[in-house]
Amino acid sequence: MGGCSGCGGKPFYTRRYSGEVLCVSCFNDSIVEKTRRTVSKYKMIRPREKVAVAVSGGKDSLSLLKVLTGLYAPKRNSMVAVSVDEGVAGYRDEALSHAHSLANELGVEHLVVSYKEMLGFSLDEALDWKGEREASSCSFCGVFRRRAIDVAALKVGASVVATAHNLDDFVQTFMMNLMHGDVTRLGWLDPNHSDGSFSVRRVKPFMELYEEEVALYAHQVGVPLQSVSCPYMHEGLRSEVRDYLNMMEANHPGLKNVMLRSGLDVISHYSGSRERQSVPCAQCGKPSSSGLCGVCRMKAAVEEHVKSRAQPTAFGGG
Ligand code: SF4
Ligand code: ZN
Repeated sequence: MGGCSGCGGKPFYTRRYSGEVLCVSCFNDSIVEKTRRTVSKYKMIRPREKVAVAVSGGKDSLSLLKVLTGLYAPKRNSMVAVSVDEGVAGYRDEALSHAHSLANELGVEHLVVSYKEMLGFSLDEALDWKGEREASSCSFCGVFRRRAIDVAALKVGASVVATAHNLDDFVQTFMMNLMHGDVTRLGWLDPNHSDGSFSVRRVKPFMELYEEEVALYAHQVGVPLQSVSCPYMHEGLRSEVRDYLNMMEANHPGLKNVMLRSGLDVISHYSGSRERQSVPCAQCGKPSSSGLCGVCRMKAAVEEHVKSRAQPTAFGGG
């Protein structure tokens, strides 16, 4: 095998879909450069705009914070790290401390919004209500999480939220939406998404990077790994879709890239032809499809459940 395609140095990684062989330094540079190109191609970050980077504390989001800060802060854009504390005992603390340390090291402000302060209950308490209901814990949690990130972004005065979704996340979600027959959600995959009356846009600067490459980058630049995973994580169909796509990519290098292009094409045709109608939520004013948004609907149901648990029964006991 020859040397690095960039500098002739010691080979470290072969990008199978392009045939490039890269040394560690050229590999790391390529991740930063690909991110810069994605941001510029989709006009994700505007000059002098304040960017909230959604940092869960996992390796992808920590890497995103590092790359974006290196590229855009402090001269061109101000950056703030925003995290969500769902309130899962024994889980989130480690990730939040990783997020806090990196933000400190990079000189970036870090804001944490918790479900407890935003909704009045933690995820632990909310899932007690959800019980055996059909939706997975993650899709239930995700509704609150998206709102919490918007709340955090508005609090810090950011006009755009950058999330660490990578190419694998995009393609998996695209396929899952098709499998669920849920094409109205395809708009969320838009690389530069704004949802009508939400004042913050959502962008995905890692959208053209394979998950494997982000993980390798994180390892090379010393981003810490989280040792505890969420006890409610239930990937179900997603892990089957992931395995299938990985198998196909191994047999046909570049297939995920092609799927990304196809997905983006479908989304642009779809959103042009069938705009999703939304009306303001009667309670919080955020966009909703039926007059009451998912957050307010689920919040009311959880509160009802918590109240009924607190009330003594007719027999005077609990
Ligand atoms: Fe929420 Fe699922 Fe993440 Fe746990 S793994 S915090 S349930 S989205
Ligand atoms: Zn609402």
